[in-house]
Amino acid sequence: MIQICTVGGFSDIGRNMTAIKVNDTAVILDMGIHLSNYIKLADEDDIHKFPLQELIYQGAIPNDKVIEYWKDEVKAIIPTHAHLDHIGAIPFLAKNYDAEIICTPFTKAVLEAILTDEKIKLPNTIKSLSPNTKYKIDDNITIEFIAVTHSTPQSVFVILHTPEGQVMYTNDFKFDQYPVLGKKTDVKKLQALKDIKLLFCDSTRCLDLKKTPSEQIAKQMLTDILEGSHLENNAIIVTTFSSHIARLKTIVELAKKMNRKVIFLGRSLAKYVEAAELIKLVEFSKNIKQAKYPNEVQKALKLVEGNKEKYLLVVTGHQGEPKSVLSKIANDTYAFKFQPNDAVIFSSTVIPTPENKKNRELLEALLQKKNIRIFKDIHVSGHAGKEDIRDLILFTNPKNIIPSHCNKSLSDGLVTLAVEMGYIQGINLYQMGDGSMLELK
Ligand SMILES: [Zn+2]
Repeated sequence: MIQICTVGGFSDIGRNMTAIKVNDTAVILDMGIHLSNYIKLADEDDIHKFPLQELIYQGAIPNDKVIEYWKDEVKAIIPTHAHLDHIGAIPFLAKNYDAEIICTPFTKAVLEAILTDEKIKLPNTIKSLSPNTKYKIDDNITIEFIAVTHSTPQSVFVILHTPEGQVMYTNDFKFDQYPVLGKKTDVKKLQALKDIKLLFCDSTRCLDLKKTPSEQIAKQMLTDILEGSHLENNAIIVTTFSSHIARLKTIVELAKKMNRKVIFLGRSLAKYVEAAELIKLVEFSKNIKQAKYPNEVQKALKLVEGNKEKYLLVVTGHQGEPKSVLSKIANDTYAFKFQPNDAVIFSSTVIPTPENKKNRELLEALLQKKNIRIFKDIHVSGHAGKEDIRDLILFTNPKNIIPSHCNKSLSDGLVTLAVEMGYIQGINLYQMGDGSMLELK
């Protein structure tokens, strides 16, 4: 019998965590934070000062009390990739389990950078497992990682091989045929999985009636702007997701073509870029400078002031976060003055929470007052659209499906698709909420 507990990420997007138990072996898939709930608390105070219970109560981290009775049987914690909604709660919760953390080398490097940055020492060992390899925990569960394209490197589908069949967990993915970094997903590997008992299906973009475009499209959009707009004598500031190494690679390459030196400004950018360099995914160092802390940022911006045409700045703050480098530049906190027609490129979309929407509106209004050229939504998503999801189900032919990485309306959307493909709700298609349990015989 396979027992499932959907701990977090099934009633609301964020704080992903799922536990699977086969006989007396349990594993945890993902241990993430809910970004906006987390940032609200982190802005108030040092997040590590809050009692665990308060972080759970405020919805910042998953409520793992629901698997209290499985605690001694948890043998592994397996985050699928380096996004904070998948690894961000590890510093808070992993110590509750006598379990190894098993993840790809990039995810490991990012996790270790976070732990060092926050001065946290975990009792758990962190094992790196390369994409497209297997690792046997015991006779009940063998883990397999299948490399998949997403918006951060070395993302994987996790397959749990068990005596009861295979469990496949797909948070998060898209099927990019022309990735900018890494390889496309090996579909043959998916088709070779002949005994998928249960598929956890990333449903974040299941209402988008499309196949999500390739990262090459974002590259083309950025190329168009940087090569085609009349920006020769102006400051160019790009802001994007710090974890999006492929996007950063595009930006570094385009800047080189323009003979501009790149400076990465902000702590979270440094964390992800250093992790990617550490495991030799990219080699930015020759072409970039980095400034992590406010005094370093201040120094770097002084260097740029007066020589704006020689630099391209990559900064944190694409959601308009008030403490980010971009907001601080816009607020004249630093010795850097925008000139009319300088450019700010948002290589991102707004994650639609009321907080983010408000912050971005304020930031854009401020930039517009200074006559800054704004280029927004220069981005493609890392999540599968409805037609990618249909392909995933066709490739793997799972016996049972649970919509994941979703709220109720997205879960409903996935149900509509699965019913269309012959699944029956309550028989082999299960809508779960946070903290729900299911047994599959
Ligand atoms: Zn992700």
